[in-house]
Amino acid sequence: MTSPSSTLMPAAFLGHGSPMNALESNRYTEAWKAFGASVPRPRAILVVSAHWYINATAVTAMPRPRTIHDFYGFPPELFAVDYPAPGLPELAQEVSDVVEPTWVGADTDSWGIDHGTWSVLVHAFPDASVPVVQLSINADKGFDYHLELGAKLAPLRERGVLILGSGNVVHNLGGMDWALTDDGYDWAQRFDTSAQELMLESPTEMARLDGHRDFRLAVPTPDHFLPSLYLAGLAGASAADETAVLIDGYAYGSLSMTAYTLGMPVLDLPGGSGGPQQTPDAPPEASNI
Ligand code: ZN
Repeated sequence: MTSPSSTLMPAAFLGHGSPMNALESNRYTEAWKAFGASVPRPRAILVVSAHWYINATAVTAMPRPRTIHDFYGFPPELFAVDYPAPGLPELAQEVSDVVEPTWVGADTDSWGIDHGTWSVLVHAFPDASVPVVQLSINADKGFDYHLELGAKLAPLRERGVLILGSGNVVHNLGGMDWALTDDGYDWAQRFDTSAQELMLESPTEMARLDGHRDFRLAVPTPDHFLPSLYLAGLAGASAADETAVLIDGYAYGSLSMTAYTLGMPVLDLPGGSGGPQQTPDAPPEASNI
C-alpha cells in the first residue's frame, strides 16, 4: 500500500492508554511513530477518539482546532502539550456526503483535538502539519451503527484521508491498578485475544464481542472499544486489504494497548520497555484516561 502507484490510504486503530504516553518513549510510542513514518503523507487525518463520546454524530469543522486537555491528576507538562495541527473544514462536508443518509453535524466551536487524538499524533505526526478532523462517537447508537459508519467512510481512503480509531479494546478504569505498569489480568488477555482473532480473520464479527464471557469486565462502558469498530468496518468494506497487529500488550491490569493497521505491510518494530512509568495523582476512575 505504500507503493507510489497505490492510491488507497492505510487506516489504523491505536490503543492510546495513559496520556503520559504523549511525553514518554516506549514500545507503543515507537510503534505509533513507525506507523506515521510508513504511510503516504495524508491530505488529512480523520480520528474517531474515545474521548469525544456525545449524543450525536458530528465532525470538527473549525480551521484551527484547539488542543483539549481532558484528563485529571497529571503533571503540568502534560497540560502544556499543544498540538497545533490545522483543521480542514471542507472535510466535514465530504464526511457528511459519504455517509448519507446518516446525518453528521458540523462542529465549529465546541470540540477540537482531544488527548485520545494528540497523545498518539505527537508521535505519529510530530510536526503537526497534516490537518486533523475528529469524528464523534454517537453514544446513542449500537455496535452495528458504528461498524456500518466505519464502512461508509471507506471512500475517503481514496482521497488521501488517513482514518484512525483511538481507544483501547479493553478499558476498565475501575479495575485499574497503577502499579501494574505492563500487565493484563487474565480476563483482559482472554478478551483481547478473542478481539485479535476477529479483527484479523473476520473483522465485521467484532460487533459480536458483546456476547463474550468477559465483555462486562473488558468493556464496562463502550467509549474506548467503539473506535475499533470503525477500523473493522473499513476492513469489511475493503476485502482486498488485510488487517494486522501493529503492536499489542497490556497496561495497569485492565487496559489492552493493542493496535491494528489496515492495508499496509506489517512493520518490523524494535523491542523496548512497556507503558508509561509516571502515573497521575488521581484515582483511576477520576483520571479520564
Ligand atoms: Zn482514553
